[in-house]
Amino acid sequence: MTTQQTRKTLDRARLANLMAREQDRFARARPRSRALHAQARRSLLSGVPMNWMTRWPGSFPIFVAEANGARLIDVDGITYVDLCLGDTGAMTGHAPPATVAAIARQAHRGLTTMLPSEDAIAVGDDLSRRFGLPSWQFTLSATDANRFAIRLCRKITGRSKILVYDHCYHGSVDETFATVDARGVVGPSLGNVGPGVDPALTTRVVQWNDVEALERALARGDVACVLAEPVMTNVGIVLPDDGYHAALRALTRRYGTLLIIDETHTLCAGPGGYTRAHGLAPDLITLGKAIGGGVPCGAYGLSAEVADRVLAHTVWEAADVGGVGGTLAANPLSGAAMRATLSEVLTDAAFDHMIALGERFAQGVADTIEERGLPWHVVRVGARSEYLFVPERPRTGAQAYAAMDGELDAFMHLYMLNHGVLLTPFHMMALMSPVTTAADVDRHTAVFHDAVMELFD
Ligand code: PMP
Repeated sequence: MTTQQTRKTLDRARLANLMAREQDRFARARPRSRALHAQARRSLLSGVPMNWMTRWPGSFPIFVAEANGARLIDVDGITYVDLCLGDTGAMTGHAPPATVAAIARQAHRGLTTMLPSEDAIAVGDDLSRRFGLPSWQFTLSATDANRFAIRLCRKITGRSKILVYDHCYHGSVDETFATVDARGVVGPSLGNVGPGVDPALTTRVVQWNDVEALERALARGDVACVLAEPVMTNVGIVLPDDGYHAALRALTRRYGTLLIIDETHTLCAGPGGYTRAHGLAPDLITLGKAIGGGVPCGAYGLSAEVADRVLAHTVWEAADVGGVGGTLAANPLSGAAMRATLSEVLTDAAFDHMIALGERFAQGVADTIEERGLPWHVVRVGARSEYLFVPERPRTGAQAYAAMDGELDAFMHLYMLNHGVLLTPFHMMALMSPVTTAADVDRHTAVFHDAVMELFD
């Protein structure tokens, strides 16, 4: 390997030409997906069941025929190494056999009952052991877990505001769609669909890693809770500075604010998420996506103190209509799926494998960056890695957002798709599953290297 001394600059005209070539290649190889998308316009808004599915880089979305293990096959018969894994929903690998068997068993014994099943106890015990919080409740999604956790924090603190980080994402939770400008003024985030009230009324927003801003926001004494991913993962990966979590915990305690850690994505850091891997001590934890192996489910955990306060504030005669619930929440099907997934799929050994592959992935990318002298870098949290097209690691969501390169991002995704690799859309993120192999990772490494060679001489 020869290390290039000069920093490369990207030729935008060349990028545009390559993009046109890849678009053409993409469309020609997928006549069936293209036809299904046209047909879908008859009854689906924009020809897709959820409109963000049009945000993949091709001129139409890929329709999926089958997803198994770390592979996805589209309706044109093209097989992909899936490093997107349903944006973490399939971090277990697709259709993990133990989960599928448990789902099949439970499906014959009832899908939803509004009564507890034994599986829920096993899942509660497992989550307590993993995350160190004693009391758990189940929902249908991570979004719901966050929504309910926020409600409970407001109720037991009697405070109205919540605090989130600029460019966070926690699901479709109204209060979190807020941003902050350089003067500290809070407003709706880009694309916030029909906010019911001005988010400044509900939400304080600060930049990740800015301890002073956090203290100023909490010192006013009206913030019920901070809702934080322990590492930002939805505007690229933005790691906490050394000592940031200690400061966050100390300040939330000092000002009587509860701390909710959202582990939905950062479960990739280990069996007990980033919380256990780094010894965090949140008051509440929220989770979802992968814990049911792809079956809709979510969970939130409470510390003993928060659990006592929640019980003391519960209006039992209205517990079903008070705003924390869901008829299908905690249904036995998701209970069976979570129990099997946690006990047989997302095991300690599985995480060892996934994290080793995460390291291999990051090293493969770093080697090409180094070899070609690119002003890019790669960052990793356990089994999740990402590359960014800037030389320095961003420290805040705003910096990470400013560092994004939409054109290059779209080209890399499309090039990967055309070479049988699926990355998480909207950023250059790759996740490893228990059934991903070293050969899968090396395939990405080779395609990444080829893409770079096409972009730069
Ligand atoms: N929390 C985080 C950190 C997320 O990234 C997401 C979704 N990407 C959610 C919560 C919400 O998950 P869901 O859409 O499955 O409810």
